[in-house]
Amino acid sequence: MQQERRVSLSDPASMVIIEHLVKRFGSFNALSGINLTVAKGEKIVLCGPSGSGKSTLIRCINHIEKHDAGRIVVDGIELTDRIRDINNVRSEVGMVFQSFNLFPHLSVIENCMLAPMKVRGLAQAEANDRAMVLLRKVRIHDQAKKYPAQLSGGQQQRVAIARALCMQPKIMLFDEPTSALDPEMVKEVLETMVELAQDGMTMVCVTHEMGFAREVADRVIFMDRGSIVEEGDPRTFFRAPNTERAKAFLNQII
Ligand code: ADP
Ligand code: MG
Repeated sequence: MQQERRVSLSDPASMVIIEHLVKRFGSFNALSGINLTVAKGEKIVLCGPSGSGKSTLIRCINHIEKHDAGRIVVDGIELTDRIRDINNVRSEVGMVFQSFNLFPHLSVIENCMLAPMKVRGLAQAEANDRAMVLLRKVRIHDQAKKYPAQLSGGQQQRVAIARALCMQPKIMLFDEPTSALDPEMVKEVLETMVELAQDGMTMVCVTHEMGFAREVADRVIFMDRGSIVEEGDPRTFFRAPNTERAKAFLNQII
């Protein structure tokens, strides 16, 4: 029988526990020994130069990428090769990408109803009600019947957030959710994320939006070349980073 790992690795205060995580692409170490614990309710901003491994780390948490060594535990479930564990974790982890990834052939409301019906087994009426509540929350309920292509980028991204929330995730992962947006649309998406943070959601956000980081992050984590180089509270990190690498990075983006 498979060992039941749910309890032994579960620290009730932690949403994600990552130990000595290694991810390789061929002989290249994209992540070389990441240790990170995300507390329940914690908001983490992940930053660092392009290619430093931010997306790979986020994708490993959701098991879109399979890690090569180390362990990842999400809400007490260790990510192993067991498909049941992976599916359990995936349904608890909401993910929002830079490119909104909505289904183009489905309306806004259908985008939001699909996974709750297919994965959670919700009846259509129930899925519809839940979707409307969350579309209202991101202030886009009046566009529910439209198709993604009829919406602005900012609106599409808010739909993507609502769609993720319809699965009632325990943690939300954001991978540069505003990078593909025109500047005037960045604010509406960030406001939605701030509200989500205020609701108490556990969040890991890859973003270079320093205003957002200052406002909501409990911790900023700076990555470079596959490692966590520095971490701290946002005020200290932005004002007085410890490492030369973080200083150089901040000089570039500010
Ligand atoms: P970031 O999100 O910080 O820009 P990534 O996590 O996307 O960085 O990438 C980290 C490194 O891993 C980069 O050098 C990138 O080229 C490499 N990488 C990412 N995905 C793949 C892949 N599927 N195959 C090969 N190399 C990859
Ligand atoms: Mg990336």
